[in-house]
Amino acid sequence: TVTVLSLDKKGHLGGVCTTSGLAYKLPGRVGDSPLIGAGLYVDDEAGAAGGTGVGEEIIRIGGSLFIAEQIRAGKSPQEACELACKRANAAAGRRGVHPARVAFLALDPKGNVGAACTEKADFKYAVGRGEKVELLQAKEIGP
Ligand code: ASP
Repeated sequence: TVTVLSLDKKGHLGGVCTTSGLAYKLPGRVGDSPLIGAGLYVDDEAGAAGGTGVGEEIIRIGGSLFIAEQIRAGKSPQEACELACKRANAAAGRRGVHPARVAFLALDPKGNVGAACTEKADFKYAVGRGEKVELLQAKEIGP
């Protein structure tokens, strides 16, 4: 999955994602990317978020909507992404699956960025501000 989140000069958030889905997926499988609130969610008054990894785990927790609502409630994008990873790990763990193998990226209306991934997701992301682009490693969240 490739997710791009943006903030324009007027303070409007945007987001887009594209994915080929998971390898060996069943024909007709719908992953998280086309489901608003799962693989992508954008709300000017809360935040923008996107997910990658095992889509079923992201759908189960409504990952991107969860993150936007955490930001709306006062969490930073980083805190919100970490909480989503913990929630995904907990939900997967209850079914005997660990780790959830997901990663999240988020942006708030002030331009604060956050990212986190569960173990073994190894998620890198780029942050561009004007002409400056940084490649960063998402914080890994354990059980
Ligand atoms: N999240 C995608 C899916 O489950 C896979 C990916 O991130 O590449 O369809």
